[in-house]
Amino acid sequence: MSGTSDFAAETQLEGCGPMLGNQSHQQKPLRQRVFEYVRAQGNTARSDISRALEISPGSATTLTADLIRAGLLREVAGLERDNSRGRPRVALEIVPQAGFVIGIKLGDTGHTAVLADFTGAMISNASLPSLPTSRPATTLLDEVARLIDMLLSQTNTPMNKVKGIGIGMAGLIDHAHGLVRWSPLLNSRDQAFGAAAEARFGRSVVLENDANMLTLAELWFGSGRAKSDFAVITIENGVGMGLVLNNRLYRGSFGMGLELGHTKVQLDGALCRCGERGCLEAYISDYALVREAATALNLPLDKNISFQSLLGTLFDEAAAGNTAAQKIFQRAGRFLALGLSNVVQLFDPALVILSGERMTYDFMYDGDVLRDVQALTLSRGDMPCLVEVHPHADLDWARGATARALAQVTDAIFKTEAAI
Ligand SMILES: [Zn+2]
Repeated sequence: MSGTSDFAAETQLEGCGPMLGNQSHQQKPLRQRVFEYVRAQGNTARSDISRALEISPGSATTLTADLIRAGLLREVAGLERDNSRGRPRVALEIVPQAGFVIGIKLGDTGHTAVLADFTGAMISNASLPSLPTSRPATTLLDEVARLIDMLLSQTNTPMNKVKGIGIGMAGLIDHAHGLVRWSPLLNSRDQAFGAAAEARFGRSVVLENDANMLTLAELWFGSGRAKSDFAVITIENGVGMGLVLNNRLYRGSFGMGLELGHTKVQLDGALCRCGERGCLEAYISDYALVREAATALNLPLDKNISFQSLLGTLFDEAAAGNTAAQKIFQRAGRFLALGLSNVVQLFDPALVILSGERMTYDFMYDGDVLRDVQALTLSRGDMPCLVEVHPHADLDWARGATARALAQVTDAIFKTEAAI
């Protein structure tokens, strides 16, 4: 395993998955609720299951025996005794080998993939370079196949142990139908990419918008596990947003995710790459900063020089005291604050997580931005909404795709409708 995941530092919680049940959770069969409770706890005693799910000790015993027979749970010694004279309590945990899933983040500079066991633990990871160009779906599937081969060969895991695959990418993703309506990675619209991937790999494949994928990563592995309402805002080449309301990913009516980057912050403003004017993205994303930098600092807009390198130059100039460079970041920070304050005002989340590659540039979240958010929000003078910066690596995004696949595979085992 080459990479590391940031979530361990973010939360000390054992297990994985949302800690708080939502409405659809209550409608799941009791066996599944027991299973998911154990996965969320890491390991737990039957008496705790009975207490938490408000079922009788006898029911807890019957249900867990059933799950043990099905090869999904196993007993482990090791919980502390109830009291000094009692026998050590037997705990239950998920059988890690009950099934493996693969999570993949497809990006325009690199792809990242994670193999996870049924507890959600990362077993191996792999990455491939990518290019910011659109390609045919078959070419993108070839790249997915290479990632899967790398993951499986590292650990000698046969493909028949893999129960499901989650894939996230930028764009308009219709997750319910496995369609990519539009993505910068594909050269045509309305691609049945999910079905094509299922046909190629012979496994259930779920697609997800990349901001939703990172939001699921926070909900399953990070700070969002015990939060009922939180937002994740990603600032990369574009600006994305994921939202959890009532412990559940909010997708809107058409399943297209939340396009914060294309909310308008200026009438007749700067031209956005979507073709409209005045979008938030047109002021704070990579290409917006590069455009400003090229004008203000006379930097070359050469195709052979990457956005990253131009942004690096801009940041270095700002750090060295170049006021023109500093102003570009300050202006972007003010627009970011405007977008954030609108999110806070609309949804009143307990937490807003800022993430994405641009979060390495601290202008985006310095004190001025947070003060601006507060000033632009009706509040009681304090800052009720916590804003945190989680500079997640691609590996964490891919782990979000494993969460998506785990949820799907779990629902399939217990024959419930997809509820994530
Ligand atoms: Zn736009």
